[in-house]
Amino acid sequence: MSPVRQIINPFDQSVLTEIEDQTREQAIQAIAKARNAFDHGDWPHASPEHRAAVLNRVADLLERDKEDIARTETLDTGKTLVESRIDVDDVVAVFRYYGNLAGLLHPKVVQGTPPDVVSRIDYEPVGVCGLIAPWNYPLLQISWKIAPALLAGNTLVGKPSEITPLTTIKLFELLQEAGLPDGVANLVLGTGPEVGAPLSEHPDVDLVSFTGSLATGQRIMASAAKTVKKVALELGGKNPNIVFADADIDTAVDYALTAAFFHAGQVCSSGTRLIVHTDIYDDFVDEVARRADLIKLGNGFDEDTESGPLVSAEHRAKVEGYIEIAQQEGATLKAGGRRPDEPELQNGFFFRPTVYADCHKDMKLVQDETFGPIITAERFTTEDEATFLGNNTDYGLAGGVWSQDLEKAQRVAKKLRHGTVWINEFGPYLPQAEWGGFKRSGVGRELGTAGLHEYTEPKHVYQNLKPAAQNWFARKDSQ
Ligand code: NAD
Repeated sequence: MSPVRQIINPFDQSVLTEIEDQTREQAIQAIAKARNAFDHGDWPHASPEHRAAVLNRVADLLERDKEDIARTETLDTGKTLVESRIDVDDVVAVFRYYGNLAGLLHPKVVQGTPPDVVSRIDYEPVGVCGLIAPWNYPLLQISWKIAPALLAGNTLVGKPSEITPLTTIKLFELLQEAGLPDGVANLVLGTGPEVGAPLSEHPDVDLVSFTGSLATGQRIMASAAKTVKKVALELGGKNPNIVFADADIDTAVDYALTAAFFHAGQVCSSGTRLIVHTDIYDDFVDEVARRADLIKLGNGFDEDTESGPLVSAEHRAKVEGYIEIAQQEGATLKAGGRRPDEPELQNGFFFRPTVYADCHKDMKLVQDETFGPIITAERFTTEDEATFLGNNTDYGLAGGVWSQDLEKAQRVAKKLRHGTVWINEFGPYLPQAEWGGFKRSGVGRELGTAGLHEYTEPKHVYQNLKPAAQNWFARKDSQ
């Protein structure tokens, strides 16, 4: 008997539904179905245009069911309905973006070949892909993988987080409704060690693409090495948000709040590491803290709610652990640092937006990904120091630079070792622009054309039009 898992609404701990966790054997069966569909099915050989049409149908169905999906995401994650609607819109945009890229999969003629040779590159699917997603953007993160994997002609096994599986279950129903052949997209539900691990271990999986924590990513990379799978990893971040004294201060304060507190800080690219020029540091941090105290926490379905709860009791306990660490390390608490007082929030996993001043680079609070609503504020004096601090992390996912001197901002952006840098902005991504991490934030890229080519095997086909003996090994007799 598989254990039954309760799916909990983080706003009030009500049970949304119960789902049977699948077993390792069931995950292996799903891999076998995907293998069979790849080796014997039509999907890998269908034209890219046919596959693109399916993706566009998925986008249509997501638009049709947008409200229902967004509500489900809010129930499952606690994020506001406005955020969930944005997520669905973004997912539609990603399916449409890849639904428009069939042309990139056509063979490419190689130029500059020797005489009497034709040579081309075919873009073939990699094979069976294991796609593993985290709980913070459940529908969005798995879609960044599914859309390009399908366009390229792969078959797949998808595994959502066991904490927030509901919109992924819905997405797999829509894939079916859009006309995807049986066995091409297979869903497994359950824990990482039980149904996730086979996706990085099993010899019948050709590629594993994972979004989640650094520790799990390291485990997946190590186990994928045994069968030399292709590995794509989107891991954590500790993302600097650098504010120069010549920035538009009101706008920078406003974005400092959304950078760090959007979705209660449970965002891989959240700008929780605030790095502010010393001339404006005190006033800037005071204003961020003052406004953090005004943030309205609540039910994601209420229109005036600005931020929802954390995803689970365990996750809140982890975030609260950093409050103790902050005290030990001597950071100065300027806002939050506690659970809210409102009686109506007591059943949810809420934590107040938190701001710490007097932070420095060597603090654990500054270096660790807390994945919660905690800003650490550091000071800098020179441009070089700002760049140094911005790069002073094992991660390299994203960062922001605020200045009205655009040459300076571009200089700093160029030096930052992060996969995305925003200038006078923080947060947006585009389906057509590559997303991913330098350093320990990951391997490979999602989105953009690189996000498609993660799922292709370029094959060089070289044809000699006038074959003739080379006589390199010219001896034909035995003495
Ligand atoms: P997690 O690593 O705990 O889990 C992610 C997924 O991996 C889940 O589905 C989990 O069940 C599965 N898993 C766990 N152990 C496994 C194993 N041994 N083998 C295979 N699968 C296993 O991460 P999380 O807590 O769900 O997500 C938060 C993390 O995700 C943060 O570190 C965040 O920065 C990161 N993240 C990164 C990006 C990005 O684009 N770089 C985006 C979103 C989240």
